[in-house]
Parts: sequence; C-alpha cells; structure tokens
Amino acid sequence: MTNKIDTILAQAGNRDNNDQNNSISTPLYFGSNFRHDSLEEVETSDPTKRYSYSRLATPTRSVLQKALAELEGGVDSFAVSSGMAAIQLVFSLFKSGDHIITSDDLYGGSFRYFDYLSSHYGIKFSKWDGKDVDELKHLVTKDTKAIWLETPSNPTMKIIDIAEVSNLLHSIDNSILVCVDNTFLTPIYQRPLTLGADIVVHSATKYLSGHNDLLGGVVVAKDKAVDDDLLFNFNTTGVTLDPFDSWLLLRSLKTLSVRMERHTKNARYLCACLKKFDSVQKVLYPGVGGMISFYVNDDKVAQLLDNLKVISFAESLGGIESLVTLPAKQTHSDMTKEARLKLGITDNLIRLSVGLEDPRDLVEDIRQALGDAPIKLEESEKQTSTIN
Ligand SMILES: *Cc1c(COP(=O)(O)O)cnc(C)c1O
Repeated sequence: MTNKIDTILAQAGNRDNNDQNNSISTPLYFGSNFRHDSLEEVETSDPTKRYSYSRLATPTRSVLQKALAELEGGVDSFAVSSGMAAIQLVFSLFKSGDHIITSDDLYGGSFRYFDYLSSHYGIKFSKWDGKDVDELKHLVTKDTKAIWLETPSNPTMKIIDIAEVSNLLHSIDNSILVCVDNTFLTPIYQRPLTLGADIVVHSATKYLSGHNDLLGGVVVAKDKAVDDDLLFNFNTTGVTLDPFDSWLLLRSLKTLSVRMERHTKNARYLCACLKKFDSVQKVLYPGVGGMISFYVNDDKVAQLLDNLKVISFAESLGGIESLVTLPAKQTHSDMTKEARLKLGITDNLIRLSVGLEDPRDLVEDIRQALGDAPIKLEESEKQTSTIN
C-alpha cells in the first residue's frame, strides 16, 4: 500500500522507529558508535542496517531519511548539515571537464558555489533562461552531465516546466541528470522525481523544518546507481545531519502540509493587498507557497525595512515567522550588478517570506511602514483568500 502525502507526513517514524517500547514519537539517539556482538556480525552485516558509526548511519537520521525518500518518491535520501551541503553532495558526482547547465535565477549561495567550482575545479557551466527549450537543446554538449533547476526561481519567481526539460534532455542523452532545488515549493506542491527529474535537493532550513530553528539539507535520488554514488560521498565526506537536528526536522515535517496550506492562503491575501498599495510597483507570486517578491518605490526601501514591527528584516525564509530580505544587498550580493539587473534583482526588489501570523496584521505592518493609505479589498479579491 502506498500512502498519500498527508499520511506519510503524519505517520513519519511511528511504526518504523525500531523502539523497543513502541514509542509513537521517534526516540532521539545521540550515540556516535554502536557495540558489536561478534566479529562475524561485523563481517556479514550491512552497515546501513546494523549501526556501527554514526557518520555512516544513526537511528534517528535513518528514520528521517526514510520519510524524506517517501515524500519525494526516491529510492533513499540523505539528510545533511545544510542546503549548501546538499548541493555540494550532488556536485561530488561531477569532475573537472564536466559541463552543467543551470537556470539563470538561482539562490545566491548556489551562484557563489558554481563560480568557485568553475574557477577552481574546471567544471564548465552554461546558463539557461528557463524558457526557450530550443536554446536549451543547443546548450547541450557531449560533456553535459546535468541541468540544475530552481523553480519557482529565487527571487523573481520564474516557473520552469520540469517535465518538459526532463523529456527533452533525456531524449538527447538519458544519462543527463535533471537536478531540482525544491526548497520553495516542497513536495506538497511539486514532486520533481515524479515529473522526470533524477535528483531533488532541499534546504531543509526553510519550509521542511519551518520553525527558523535549524540548518539542514536533503538530497533524494530516483535511481539506485546515482544513490549509491551519493552514498559513497556522503559516508566519505561526513556532511551528515546530527541526531538532534534530525529529530527536530522529523517532528517539524509532520505539520508540513498544514503549514504550506496556510502559507499559501496568507500569501494570496497579501498579494491581493500589496498590489493596492501606492508605494508598491509590482508583485511577483507563483500562485502557491509562501514566497512573494515585490518592487517598491526607490525612496521607500529603507523606510519599509526600518519600520516593520511584526515582520522581521532577516535573511532566510520558510518559517512560521514572516521575514523580509533585500536580495540585492543580502542573498544575491555576490552577483555582479549587471547580472543582477539583467534578472530584475534591482535595489528596490523586496522578498517576503509570508509566515503564519494573521495576514491582516502583516498587511497593516507593511502599510504603516510604507506610510501608505489604508486599502480595501473588493469582494471578488477577497475570494482568493478565505480571510475576510
Ligand atoms: C537557503 C537556500 C539554499 C541553501 O541552504 P542552506 O540551508 O542555507 O545552506 C539553497 N537553495 C535555496 C533555494 C535556498 O533558499
């Protein structure tokens, strides 16, 4: 029987946590190493089933990894110490001379890392705008090993059709790995492996954990061969998530779908309201999820960030508490100004991670900070949200 996503989430770790007392909640094991009963056991056992040393496997992380694999529909998953560690684990599959295509509007840290891989390790990168598939076809070379996608993109919310890209690239060369950073939508709204992708990564620091209290990452592969290569690098380099954060992440996952539903509801309401403010020029929102980007009048940027009372001006996203960031000065500050402007990441672009507060308080917070007049939603506009 294959369970539906809400059941996978609610039941994560209940029946398969190996606890001798049948605890419903997965116990937290801190042990770094495990006693063997005999030499024979060491010689014959599978180290991922029979625990030995926690870099290789540890009970709390194993339960979490099983739940994450099921959520994304992969063979197994790797829980690692950060989203960047997840990206690094995937890139451990590639070597000097390999060619990777990436979408052009990425998380700032991914840009920085890819630049480094290019200058220090001779991995070749090409950027694709995420739209023109003919152009994508022409970017493929005999050295192309993977495409790296973020959809919706960060921070300008461009949407890429994962199924179309996967079909196209796999028809050219079935071994090209389609990799998707699924941090923004989570498996609640997008399951890339079911759309043809080969590898999914997450910054679990964001929605998967959702409480602004841990740093973590996830890699999930669809095929056993890719998974085995990742496992070798995971065990060898030790980018693992520790037991306590594994436990916290497992517990947080259980509420993922209810949180995402409310993030979406709040974000839709905020979008409808933001569009009405005099100081707001344009609002970007992919339709689901809790991430909104918007352009404000240049003279209102500092005023907004300095005067918010509920929403925090802080880097990161995906948590219960609403946060705003200024990508040009924070997450994307390492890009050149030209590259930023080309993507629309101007100095007046604000990124908002809509939290789980009452959205009316969030709208009022933004209004008072901007110094704009109160707005009123039409009946039809209210229908995008059930909040009146
Ligand atoms: C935050 C983020 C990352 C990096 O994750 P960390 O947990 O901060 O290392 C990667 N991709 C996206 C889309 C992110 O938002």
